[in-house]
Amino acid sequence: MKRFPAFIDLQDRWVVILGGGEAALKKAQLAISAGARVRVVWSVLSDALQAELSATAELIHRSPRESDFDGAILVFIAVCETEMPGQWAQIARQKGILVNVVDQPALCDFTTPSIIERGRLTIAISTDGAGPAYGRALRAKIESMLPSHIGALLDFAGRYRDAVKNKIAPQNRREFWESFFDGPIAAQVLAGDPKGAHEAMLALVNSDTKFADRGVVHIVGAGPGDPELLTLKAFRLIQSADVILYDRLVSDEVLALARRDAERLYVGKAKSDHAVPQDEIEAKMIAFGRAGKIVVRLKGGDPFIFGRGGEELETVRAAGLPVYVTPGITAATGCAAAAGLPLTHRDWAHAVTFVTGHAKGENELDVDWAALAALKNTLVVYMGVGKAEFIARRLISNGRAASTPVAVIENGTRETEIIVKGALEALPDLIKAGGVTGPALLVIGEVAALANGENLLTTVNQERRVA
Ligand code: SAH
Repeated sequence: MKRFPAFIDLQDRWVVILGGGEAALKKAQLAISAGARVRVVWSVLSDALQAELSATAELIHRSPRESDFDGAILVFIAVCETEMPGQWAQIARQKGILVNVVDQPALCDFTTPSIIERGRLTIAISTDGAGPAYGRALRAKIESMLPSHIGALLDFAGRYRDAVKNKIAPQNRREFWESFFDGPIAAQVLAGDPKGAHEAMLALVNSDTKFADRGVVHIVGAGPGDPELLTLKAFRLIQSADVILYDRLVSDEVLALARRDAERLYVGKAKSDHAVPQDEIEAKMIAFGRAGKIVVRLKGGDPFIFGRGGEELETVRAAGLPVYVTPGITAATGCAAAAGLPLTHRDWAHAVTFVTGHAKGENELDVDWAALAALKNTLVVYMGVGKAEFIARRLISNGRAASTPVAVIENGTRETEIIVKGALEALPDLIKAGGVTGPALLVIGEVAALANGENLLTTVNQERRVA
C-alpha cells in the first residue's frame, strides 16, 4: 500500500486553499461539502470562484502569507507550476499541515480519491495517481451497482442498532445484521418503502422469531431479451432474489444473472398449453413470500403490458405481503427502437397504439378494428402472429391502405432476431417467408418502412431463412 486510506473528520476544521481558478474552486467545494471551514487565498480569484464561494468561504484576495495557514488541518495548492507550488507546500508542511498539490502526486502528503457517496456510505478509490481514468471508470461501475436507496438503508439500520442490541444476544448479532442486509426488510427500504420496512422491523424486534418471517415480492420487468436492456433496479433485484418465478419470454442471459443458489422456477406458458395456471403462479408468489423469501416474479418486457402483472399485484397485495413493481422496457418500444424503427415520427406517425392479437378463448378479438384503421398511425400488435391474416384483412376492409408498410420483428434485441418487412396485404406471406415461429411483434404503419432490413420476404438472419 503506497498511501494509507483514512476518512478525516473536517467538521468545523480549517482547510486552506491556494489558487483562484477552477481547480481551487473544486477543492473548496469538496471541503465545504465535508463540513470544513474554507479559506481561499490567491492574488487572482476568478469571477466564478468568487460567485460560488462568497457566502460559504473566507476569500482573501492577495498573495498568500505564512500566517494564512494558521489553524489549518489540510492545505490544497491549486496553482500553476510557475507559481512555485512546491515552495508553498514546504511552508505548510513545516507547520505540520498535510498538503495536497493538485496534479502533482510527488509533492502530495495526501491525495484525493474518486468518491462515491450515498448518505453515510462513502467509497473512495485511488490508483495512487497511476490511472485516474481507470479509477473514474471503476467508480462508474460501482455507482451502477449500488441501489439508489442504500443511504436510506444505512440510516435505517443505524436507527435500529440499539433496539437490536437490547433484543439479540451478542453472539447472534452479526448473523442478524448479515441476514438483515440481504433480507426482505432491507428490500422494502431499497424499494423506497421505509414505512412498510419500519412496521416490519418493529414487529421483528418485538417478536420472538429469530429472523424475518415475512418475505417480499417484486414484480419485475425483464425487458425484451438483451440483458443490457434491464433496468439497474431489475438487475439488482434479480441478483438479490431467493426465488425467481420466470416466464417463457425471459431470456437465459437474464436468468444467468441470478445468484447461483437462487431457486429458479419456470412458470411460463407455451401458446396453448398453460404450463402453470395463473392462479397457481399467484399462489406460489404468496407462499414463497410467506416463507420469508425475496421473491422476484420476472416477466418479459414490462410487467403491466399484456403481462397479467396487474392481477398478480392485486392478489399478492390482498394476501397482505409487501409487493413492489419494477417497470421494464416493453417489447414494442425495445424491439422497434433497436431495429431502427421509430414508433412515432414527426413526418409519419403522431400516435402509437399497442394492441393484443390474443383472444380469450375462441372469440373474435375484442378490438375495434375500424377505429384502429381510421387512426392511420402506428399500430403494434403483440401476440398477433397467429391472427395476422385476420388482422390484416380487418384493417384493410376498414380503410387502411393495403400498401401500408408492416414489419414483423421476431426475437427482437436477441441474437436470433429476425425482421421482415413488406406491405400490409402481404403480412401472412411475410410471416411464412420469414419462418417466424417465436415471439414476434407486428408493426403496422408508415414508420415500419424505416426498420432495418430489406423489404419484402428478406430476413436479417439469412441462415435462419435458408434453414
Ligand atoms: N409484457 C411483455 C409482453 C407479453 S405478451 C412486454 O411488455 O413486452 C408476449 C408478446 O410480447 C409476444 O407474443 C410478442 O408479441 C411480444 N414480445 C415479447 N418479447 C419480444 C421480443 N423479444 N421480440 C418480439 N416480440 C416480443
